[in-house]
Amino acid sequence: MDLRDSPSEAAFRGEARDFLETHAPKDKMDMFGDPNADEEAGIARARAWQKVLYANGWAAVVWPKEYGGRGLGPIEQIIWNQESAKAGLTDSIYVVGIGMAGPTIIAHGNDAQKTRYLDKLLRGEEIWCQLFSEPGAGSDLAGLATRGVRDGDEWVVTGQKTWCSGAQYGDFGIVLVRTNTQVPKHEGITFFLLDMKSPGIEVRPLRQVTGNAHFNEVFLNEVRIPDENRLGPEGAGWGAAMTTLMNERMAMGGVLVRYSFDELLAHVSEYAANVSAVERDDLAKLYIDMKSLELLNARIITKLGRGVMPDAESSVMKLALARILMRGGDLAVRILGPDAMRGDGPWQSHFLQAPAFRIAGGTDEIQKTQAAERVLGLPREPRADKGIPFEELPRS
Ligand SMILES: Cc1cc2nc3c(=O)[nH]c(=O)nc-3n(C[C@H](O)[C@H](O)[C@H](O)COP(=O)(O)OP(=O)(O)OC[C@H]3O[C@@H](n4cnc5c(N)ncnc54)[C@H](O)[C@@H]3O)c2cc1C
Repeated sequence: MDLRDSPSEAAFRGEARDFLETHAPKDKMDMFGDPNADEEAGIARARAWQKVLYANGWAAVVWPKEYGGRGLGPIEQIIWNQESAKAGLTDSIYVVGIGMAGPTIIAHGNDAQKTRYLDKLLRGEEIWCQLFSEPGAGSDLAGLATRGVRDGDEWVVTGQKTWCSGAQYGDFGIVLVRTNTQVPKHEGITFFLLDMKSPGIEVRPLRQVTGNAHFNEVFLNEVRIPDENRLGPEGAGWGAAMTTLMNERMAMGGVLVRYSFDELLAHVSEYAANVSAVERDDLAKLYIDMKSLELLNARIITKLGRGVMPDAESSVMKLALARILMRGGDLAVRILGPDAMRGDGPWQSHFLQAPAFRIAGGTDEIQKTQAAERVLGLPREPRADKGIPFEELPRS
């Protein structure tokens, strides 16, 4: 494992840092962290920032140059994510578009789709959301039931999606639809690019414990999707969805800095009158775990640098990070007391948002299964639905 940046990585980090120091907005752009934040103003700020990124060639680090990206690799993406987060730029409304939809269109789309969507996406003119999860399909995403039936040059789609971040202001959605029920579940799914202004779409915001309504239920009621919006062949949607999810991992990579131990320590030193021996011990344990996580992150980066995609390391990393985020929030509240729950500081939203990280992008239990199978070499989970047509599977 190499703990330092290679000379080219260090040069890239320096370039990214210089650019951010000069151009990044000084006010924090975490519109989801503050329940009082004005959503429209947040979107306008994000659009303006995306224009700056585009104009300076920083809109998409890993996209190929021919589509307006920088043509760099996952390691540079992680470095960019780390430096952007340090500059206070987290939770971009463009993460689904640039981090997930764009790369999937590049990999599976035809020329007309690339021409229509990619440039507008990079310029920040169109916002994308992800319509994958359903009330009965999250961890078992391939069990999705939203139905699509072909009618001439269109598909008529009916079903319910849920937990769709940003769907309330999304212009387009990437959506997985079951178009064949007579084949095993992974084989009957088709991937579409959905215009969110289409008739028959109802977006219902879901209010969270933070007070925000960051994600939504999306009801699709006989929505007509033109066949030209089908991404890849009919029934091949699962492969394209895997491209999306792999890119989601990369887009989220390097989020370590979201939780700053230094900030916690500074607040504890300044505001906590007495820190008990148990709390000191917990702070030390948290620090040790943060350092272990940094080493795991370095291992992932080293692997990427050698051209190898990380496998189970990302699962272990996500599992550990979710725990650290939870413990960091709990400890802040325990030591700082009621002051930590003031709406104008970082700890209230940290405390309330941390549990969501244990679910988003694959739950703790799913990460544990990955680690059990791929790190410990334990027998694979039994698959009772293997080879059975979707319509014959028992459903609740
Ligand atoms: C902040 C946030 C943002 C999100 N944004 C989006 C979005 O924009 N678009 C989108 O499509 N989705 C989004 N999601 C949904 C997310 O992908 C799902 O919540 C996640 O995949 C889990 O699915 P589920 O909620 O249906 O839980 P379920 O899969 O129903 O799981 C319920 C419980 O059962 C456990 N479980 C399930 N299967 C197994 C198993 N095989 N072994 C052991 N335990 C198991 C789980 O770990 C969990 O504890 C978001 C979620 C969050 C929290």
